[in-house]
Amino acid sequence: MHKLSHTPGLATNGLADSSPHTTPAAEQRPANVFSLDGKLALVTGGGTGIGLEIARCMAEAGATVVITGRREAVLREAVDDLGESVQYVVNDITDLGSIDGLVAQVEATYGPLDILVNNAGINLKKPALEVTDEEFSRVLHTNLHSVFALTRACAARMVARKKGVILMISSMAAYYGIDRVVAYAASKSAVEGMVKVLASEFSCHNVRVNAIAPGFIETEMSRTAMNSDPDRRDRAMRRTPMGSFGKPEDIGHAAVFLASEAARYITGASLPVDGGNSIGF
Ligand code: NDP
Repeated sequence: MHKLSHTPGLATNGLADSSPHTTPAAEQRPANVFSLDGKLALVTGGGTGIGLEIARCMAEAGATVVITGRREAVLREAVDDLGESVQYVVNDITDLGSIDGLVAQVEATYGPLDILVNNAGINLKKPALEVTDEEFSRVLHTNLHSVFALTRACAARMVARKKGVILMISSMAAYYGIDRVVAYAASKSAVEGMVKVLASEFSCHNVRVNAIAPGFIETEMSRTAMNSDPDRRDRAMRRTPMGSFGKPEDIGHAAVFLASEAARYITGASLPVDGGNSIGF
């Protein structure tokens, strides 16, 4: 994989004639630029919470979606709920040796991947001084190393095909200081950095890389972090100008947008979907 020095010849309108966003003919535009019709998406951790709603929204937008996770019963229930355009593969993303096989299996069964959503993740809420090396490594391994390994496996294929979209799920923990999540914040901050690097390497191959940074979204993960800690819940709510926590489908709709042709000139970005939490006082 190499970075191209991108100094293409300029067309008469002053824009690079090889860029996907300069396609002049209106008839080349899909009827609905927000549609994911005919696309294949892989969503890690798609059996629950945010991943489940990303899968639902993408399927509703026309995509075939493959979801992964460690618990087969959870995945089966999700697929029963979401309908026949969603399928599952049981996979532990931390098993790095399984990743090439996962991608090969998905593509052999369903065709070329258009969209990867790195959603699977774990949290650890503990004062920094009490976090062990093993705990720190476990969070980094799941939220960062695995994300890189899967992204590399998918991107190699996407770059070769000159087509693809990669989404990361970041966090407010990468935007400002939240106490007692040192490993989680380190992992999500690293993901934000990775988005910029990968976008700079892949975008000239028509593979876009972006992050969504959810605010406080009602899922099992946030319930675990908040329910026994009303002070944290109040602080999060006080700095959220919209005055409510988000729903997993709020992230799903943003993911559809970023994966669609409507976002074809967006790469290297981190989109907060947070009710204003990141700019709240
Ligand atoms: P959930 O705990 O509901 O979902 C996490 C999902 O990841 C589960 O489906 C889980 O499935 C899967 N997962 C965890 N570890 C692995 C693994 N080793 N291999 C494969 N799958 C795995 O949490 P959310 O939906 O809230 O979180 C989804 C993403 O959103 C995470 O990256 C999280 O950091 C991020 N996020 C969430 C926020 C929130 O407020 N909820 C805010 C900001 C970011 P299984 O256990 O079956 O493997």
